[in-house]
Amino acid sequence: MTVLEEIKAANDVYAQSFGEKSTLALPPARGFAILTCMDARLDPAKYAGLSEGDAHVIRNAGGRASDDAIRSLVISYKLLGTREWFVIHHTNCGMEFFTDDVIRGLLANSLDTAALGEAGFYDIGTGPGSAEAKYIDWLTISDQASSVLEDVERIKAHPLIPRNIPIHGYIYDVASGRLIEVPAATAAGSKQ
Ligand SMILES: [Zn+2]
Repeated sequence: MTVLEEIKAANDVYAQSFGEKSTLALPPARGFAILTCMDARLDPAKYAGLSEGDAHVIRNAGGRASDDAIRSLVISYKLLGTREWFVIHHTNCGMEFFTDDVIRGLLANSLDTAALGEAGFYDIGTGPGSAEAKYIDWLTISDQASSVLEDVERIKAHPLIPRNIPIHGYIYDVASGRLIEVPAATAAGSKQ
């Protein structure tokens, strides 16, 4: 089966037992939002015990507080009433394995998928690439605890976000499935 066929088959099974999920309300029932990484090993529904309708989950590369993540968080509380947020980065994140200069160099060489070796990502594809990557801030990570703290502080200080929304900072450990608190981030996120 192709990926498309697999997804359609899985969706048929899912829709057959959809049941009372058809009556779920639009605002998240449990009133919170999680900002986390797109990493395929992370499933917020499982690691945080969510069911459909419970919470907002905003995902991007790294789980970073980008302008677009903040756009979603503002909608999450302003229009849909969430009152508590979590920023969850994780161990072994791909965003630790390159810098802006590295990805800009890779994309300038080739648009093909790069390979990851001991010394980081390297190009195995062919050109042409594009210099457009230099106009994007890739929000890479050098230290997970620092990136969680930085993102909690950025969200907390944002002019569109009320001071009284508590923000919790955590690192998900891909080796154990556990959420590990970043105390400095949670402290920053609890300031009024
Ligand atoms: Zn990641």
